[in-house]
Amino acid sequence: MPTLRQLFLANNAQTTGFPLLLEFERAEGIYMYDKAGRPYMDLISGIGVSNLGHCHPYVVNAVKAQVDKYMHLMVYGEYVQTPQVRFAEKLVSLLPGNLQSVYFTNSGAEAVEGALKLAKRYTGRHDIVAFHGSYHGSTQGALSVMGNEEFKQAYRPLLPGVTFIHPDNLQELELITNQTACVILETIQGEAGIRVPDAQYMTALRNKCNETGALLILDEIQAAFGRTGTLFAFEHFDIVPDILLLGKALGGGMPVGAFISSNQVMSALKENPILGHITTFGGHPVCCTAGLAALEVLLNEKLVERVPAKDALFKKLLVHPAIKQVRGKGLMLAVEVEDFEFNKKVIDRCIENGVVTDWFLHCSNAMRIAPPLTITYDEIEKACRVILNALDCS
Ligand code: PLP
Repeated sequence: MPTLRQLFLANNAQTTGFPLLLEFERAEGIYMYDKAGRPYMDLISGIGVSNLGHCHPYVVNAVKAQVDKYMHLMVYGEYVQTPQVRFAEKLVSLLPGNLQSVYFTNSGAEAVEGALKLAKRYTGRHDIVAFHGSYHGSTQGALSVMGNEEFKQAYRPLLPGVTFIHPDNLQELELITNQTACVILETIQGEAGIRVPDAQYMTALRNKCNETGALLILDEIQAAFGRTGTLFAFEHFDIVPDILLLGKALGGGMPVGAFISSNQVMSALKENPILGHITTFGGHPVCCTAGLAALEVLLNEKLVERVPAKDALFKKLLVHPAIKQVRGKGLMLAVEVEDFEFNKKVIDRCIENGVVTDWFLHCSNAMRIAPPLTITYDEIEKACRVILNALDCS
């Protein structure tokens, strides 16, 4: 009889030669448990997803109740489905007035695709400005605006007319012109190794978009829902996007993404031709139910308010001669060390000792710290002890 691991390697498509191969039976709160019942602390929230920890009972119960009512009924945008309507209503109530029309997708990358299409339709332009170091997903449009040549060169030709600029470079804002349909950026870059932009730069960028008529798309697929210490990351800056992208934690552990804009902009998808973006499963009722329940927990338990103190505790404790820098905002942190080889040893040792972390797609010499927002101060101390011990031994 082949083991589950052997079957996984044989029958499940592999995208690296070195998958983590961890095998968990169940997960609860900030812990995942293997077959022997050994707990592993999830210090990365399944890459920015499990903001409430795993299997929050309120979310699980909401999902069970919805499954008993209905699952898929119809492709997106035709039937009035209570979970979609209630979830959009709640999101809109928490967003600035120009962000009132929510298009639910299956994933973050699909939200990126929808937003790029919408910007082209609304402006009648096709040029796009994107950022070096960015990550927006793995579909062809999202790859086209990814700021890392290594991961996309094998797929060319991609979308034409994409210009890349550097974060915080005021001079390069001149490359945004009245030919530009949109500027797309992560409010705080994730896979670049957590890079927080300068507030003045963000204001200048917003102004440049206003001057040229380019739509500003903020990708908060990784950074929203309290991860950085505010509900949405753009609240750290004096700007509001024309299109906001959400995903990951949006679904409370279920797959859903969204692009959100004004009714005026979004109505461009309705005519010439109709059905400007089509999706079968986008905004699946069970996913929207989970997302709404997760958002209610986030707000009711006031989890976001406690994020800055948790950020400060990590930064206070993570002091070691091998750590070059701890950067980031809230519980979206990067611990930079000398190089990938050392980083990998430290990460492997952390996992051996029951703390799961990893590195970043575009920054291999930094370790990711993005635990569920529910992590306690004691658990932060425990995680830091394991990390410091791993640094000592590597
Ligand atoms: N945008 C950002 C900032 C992300 O971090 C990710 C995923 O890591 C995506 C977009 C793509 O989301 P998905 O993997 O759901 O397609």
